[in-house]
Amino acid sequence: MLRKYRFVLDADGVLLNFDRAWRGCTERVLDRRMEVVDPVYDLGARYGLPTASVAKAWAAWDVTEGWRRVPPIQEGITVARMLLDMGHSVTVLTCLPNEYAEQQRRWCLDRWGLSGAQMIAVRATKKGGLSQCRPHFFADDLLVHCVEARDVMVPFIARIRYCEQEETPDGIHEFGGLEEAVGSFFRQVGYPLPRLG
Ligand SMILES: [Mg+2]
Repeated sequence: MLRKYRFVLDADGVLLNFDRAWRGCTERVLDRRMEVVDPVYDLGARYGLPTASVAKAWAAWDVTEGWRRVPPIQEGITVARMLLDMGHSVTVLTCLPNEYAEQQRRWCLDRWGLSGAQMIAVRATKKGGLSQCRPHFFADDLLVHCVEARDVMVPFIARIRYCEQEETPDGIHEFGGLEEAVGSFFRQVGYPLPRLG
């Protein structure tokens, strides 16, 4: 019998394309095209928007149930479903602003076939969620959460390249997507490599 592993995955930037949804919503409400001016996490800085425009965009986001409409990152969803099918445990550890966003995110994950995945929502740090899950594998696009995972001794940490461009510190692996990251993990632990995709 093959060993089962615990996978903890971030949502935005790994499974779901929040950036595309937020930009689309903001372009509609501001009635103009937007380009990334600085590839950073902060949305105002990323798109060169003043605070008032960001506030207006978030108001429109809430009214149009933005969290529910975030599209999938197909590769991430496919890999997460495969892990569940293989009998591994998958927890989506996601940072969200409120309970309403949590409900909509859960709906979204179910919609894309991840009803078998547990979801833990946090407001800021992911350290508590990571300590609770004790994953063998953690993937996130934000370096700050990858560093938190390293602090709580997660053995395999995959930083998925998304928007930020800082250098990845020691103990954290960098990948272009979840498929590559999970493939690397399975090779490292000597697990027979499944056919992905
Ligand atoms: Mg993220």
